[in-house]
Amino acid sequence: MECEVLVVGAGPAGSGAARSSAMSGARTLMVDKKKEIGTPVQCGEVIGLDLVKMARMRIPSAAIVARQSFTRFVLAREVIIDNAEPYWKGVTVERKVFDKHLAFRAASAGASVQADTKLLSVEGRDGEVISCLLNHHGEEVEISPRAIVAADGVHSTLARELGVEFFSPRDVARGMEFELVAKRDIPQGMQIFIEGEIGLGYGWIIPKGRRRANVGVGLVGVNASRRSFLEDWISEHPVVSRYFDVDKVLEVKMGDAPVPGFLGGPVKGNVLFCGDAAGQTLAFVGEGIMPSYLCGTLAGKHAASLAQGRGQDYENELMKVMGDHLMMGAALRDTLVQLWSSEHMDDVTRSLLSGAVMNELVGPEGLEEVLSSLEREPLKALQSLIRDSGRKIRARRC
Ligand SMILES: Cc1cc2nc3c(=O)[nH]c(=O)nc-3n(C[C@H](O)[C@H](O)[C@H](O)COP(=O)(O)OP(=O)(O)OC[C@H]3O[C@@H](n4cnc5c(N)ncnc54)[C@H](O)[C@@H]3O)c2cc1C
Repeated sequence: MECEVLVVGAGPAGSGAARSSAMSGARTLMVDKKKEIGTPVQCGEVIGLDLVKMARMRIPSAAIVARQSFTRFVLAREVIIDNAEPYWKGVTVERKVFDKHLAFRAASAGASVQADTKLLSVEGRDGEVISCLLNHHGEEVEISPRAIVAADGVHSTLARELGVEFFSPRDVARGMEFELVAKRDIPQGMQIFIEGEIGLGYGWIIPKGRRRANVGVGLVGVNASRRSFLEDWISEHPVVSRYFDVDKVLEVKMGDAPVPGFLGGPVKGNVLFCGDAAGQTLAFVGEGIMPSYLCGTLAGKHAASLAQGRGQDYENELMKVMGDHLMMGAALRDTLVQLWSSEHMDDVTRSLLSGAVMNELVGPEGLEEVLSSLEREPLKALQSLIRDSGRKIRARRC
């Protein structure tokens, strides 16, 4: 089990890191506490194609269950925006298959991979971790890697062990989702629901075929029980209940997603944090699969360099490669937070403005200007913003 680079966590961030670390020539071990990598799933499973292209990755056809040629925003249950621009096209994957495929690629590049192996604790000296205690198939094993990649998710063991907190619990969305069988054919695009009933956060339908979808909510600052919230939301929602009842549940998927805004690539001594452990998601939507993979790939490369005595420059390269994407996500999220904390607007206006912000039809500086026309004639105001932008977006009544 000895290695130069230990990668903790075999999600997209960990597998990206283990692959690049091994390809950089470091003896690499990736561990995951799960008995089966990728299971249980805690995800909507949609992947935006823009970042797949950037990662030069080919998703195996066995992992793809649906293709989405647009994203639909259902705003305040009143207005629909359809966006068919490249960023809003995607595929739905079976994450069990996808995550295992990424771990397979890491192993094929030379990394050792051990499922059912949990990091229990670390010991440090002079700000560096010098040994890690693992539970490997029920046996305790101590190893001394030179560098560590913390890819261990939103509730990171390494962050806890090192006493660091990159984001507060308030910056964590509580997600709950059912994979459901639909009563009738569903539109083959991801649907995002923005409305006062959910507040900051959103609901979604992510197709996994003509009559199958992940239907869920991400709750920010809502303390209700997530399961009953979701059941009620599906049953009572005029659009969602047209397609789904809660009596055909194939899988229950629950998990937390960090949405703190861009925090850079945190490094603590010889530990490089990436993926959800470092809050590296597109904060306005919580998209994290490909951002985590891409950031993990950089963390692995720099961990290998550090382990081989050449130092690391993770933060700088991360800024160069991912900075624009992650900071754009953070800026949009900040505007959404501003909207949902303003007292001078009703929920319908907030939802419509949120849709306009997410589609980048209006920025923080333009909010005031469009506010009164949105309040007076919501649909017309949105259509005129779209016309002025000349973009491939359409708005209509729900
Ligand atoms: C409800 C929900 C829906 C989502 N939907 C989408 C979506 O549709 N599209 C999208 O792009 N993103 C989505 N996300 C976000 C996405 O799932 C994450 O951003 C992504 O999985 C992060 O990858 P990661 O590798 O950093 O972490 P994870 O995928 O969480 O992997 C971390 C791994 O670390 C392991 N681990 C943790 N502690 C230890 C330990 N002590 N020892 C060993 N192993 C450990 C865990 O078992 C886990 O396998 C969603 C999130 C939630 C909660």
